[in-house]
Amino acid sequence: MSRTTKLRFACVQVNPRIGSVDANISKVRSLLKDVKEADFVILPELAITGYNFANKASIEPYLEEAEEGKGPSITLAKEISNRLKCFTLIGYPEIFQSKIYNSAILISPAGEVLYNYRKTFLYETDETWGASENPEKGFKSFNLVVDKEFYLSPSEKSYPTVKTNIGICMDLNPYKFEAPFNDFEFSLAAFAQRSKLILVPTAWLSPQSPSSNTLLSTEEKAKEGKAYEELYFGEENSPISSGVQFKGSEAVKPFDPSGFDASTINYWILRFFPFLRHPNSIQDKYFEKATVVMCNRVGVENDIMYAGSSSIFQFLGKESISNEIDSKNPSVNVIGSLGKGEVGVLIRDIDVEVD
Ligand code: GLN
Repeated sequence: MSRTTKLRFACVQVNPRIGSVDANISKVRSLLKDVKEADFVILPELAITGYNFANKASIEPYLEEAEEGKGPSITLAKEISNRLKCFTLIGYPEIFQSKIYNSAILISPAGEVLYNYRKTFLYETDETWGASENPEKGFKSFNLVVDKEFYLSPSEKSYPTVKTNIGICMDLNPYKFEAPFNDFEFSLAAFAQRSKLILVPTAWLSPQSPSSNTLLSTEEKAKEGKAYEELYFGEENSPISSGVQFKGSEAVKPFDPSGFDASTINYWILRFFPFLRHPNSIQDKYFEKATVVMCNRVGVENDIMYAGSSSIFQFLGKESISNEIDSKNPSVNVIGSLGKGEVGVLIRDIDVEVD
């Protein structure tokens, strides 16, 4: 019998504006103001700097050193951890030995740096602003002690650990969109290392993002982006969202900011195929519950529109085998999702399998 521990996850879905770091930080603070208890606070990829920088020069003022730990993203993460005595994971643009990385840093409940992860598979936007690939390949997992006491006032006793993987957005896709779809590089690595907790900060694009519409010229893409921005992201909403429960597929409808993007959530699930109970998947029942937290952003940056739909889902390793490859498969439970245009916090108490 495996042991589980109940952990409260708070997934913060924001709309960071490039160049408005202070305002973005205030927004995160106000969203979290009513959160009085959490074990994990998770923020998106490049959560307070914005993502779609036009070139290297324009991201340079925002780069942070992990070791120094004084940049605005890491400082904010420490502030959150210190207040809530929780783990905080935040995406930020890193500079290390004069190389730029798209990174996510994990802060402990005592406000200290625990782990720094660098994005391994890059998206074209990362290359535009000069990011380098994580030189360490293979998506390594690590053992995370999940009892807060271990960080705040440790004793001699042994503490529960969770095998954990961090991935950032494009890490979930086939390498450069060129590798075979069925290599499932990230999820297979996590599966092979017996990960039970997978945390994924993202700036995932909406299927409606003008940037992906090959029929449009550069100018038309930007124009359409502006139209979306004005239509859907002029005003911001909902401090704490209740989230929704989602099962089954749903056609992409005209943009409804409070509705999630079902096709994106189903795609994420498919990218975790090794964890699905399916005739063609790996039938190794090493886990009862493997938990995935997808923390995405919303909004528009020039011609890119993001998909929101931040979700927490759990794979149930003991479910019977099914032919479904999305949320209809009974071995995946989508515990909560935010809307595709919603600014808010998804809070869920989750049973996580520990060692
Ligand atoms: N392929 C991802 C997407 O479509 C990559 C984006 C990213 O890495 N930020 O959104």
